[in-house]
Amino acid sequence: MHHGREEQSMKKVGIIRCQQAEDMCPGTTDFKVAREGKLAFEETGPVEIIGFVSCGGCPGKRAVARAKMMVERGAEAIVFCSCISRGNPIGFPCPHFEQMKSAVAAKVGDKVDIIEYTH
Ligand code: SF4
Repeated sequence: MHHGREEQSMKKVGIIRCQQAEDMCPGTTDFKVAREGKLAFEETGPVEIIGFVSCGGCPGKRAVARAKMMVERGAEAIVFCSCISRGNPIGFPCPHFEQMKSAVAAKVGDKVDIIEYTH
C-alpha cells in the first residue's frame, strides 16, 4: 500500500553505451524509452536505470567488468545501447558487438537478462 504497482515491479537495468558515441549523444533517448517503457522496454515496462556506463573504449573489454559491477549493484538486466548494436546516430555499429555481448553474457548471463538495443 505504500508502493504503486509500477514502482513495486519496476525492473532495474544497467546500460552500456559506446564510448565513441559519447561525443555525439548524451543518451537522452535511452533515458526516455526506459522511463516510458517503450521500444526495447515494451516487455519490461518502465525500468529504473541503476547505472549508465560506457564500454570503456575499443575494443570494449571493460564492458565485462562494468556489467558485473552493475549486476552487483542490483541490475536485473544488462542493456546494450543502440549506439553499440545499431550504430545510432551515424549508422556505424560497434565492430566488436558480438564479442562484447558474448563475453558479458558469459560473465553475468546466468543471473540477468541481456537486452541488445535500446531504441
Ligand atoms: S568497442 Fe564498440 S562500443 Fe566500445 S567504443 Fe569501440 S566501437 Fe564503441
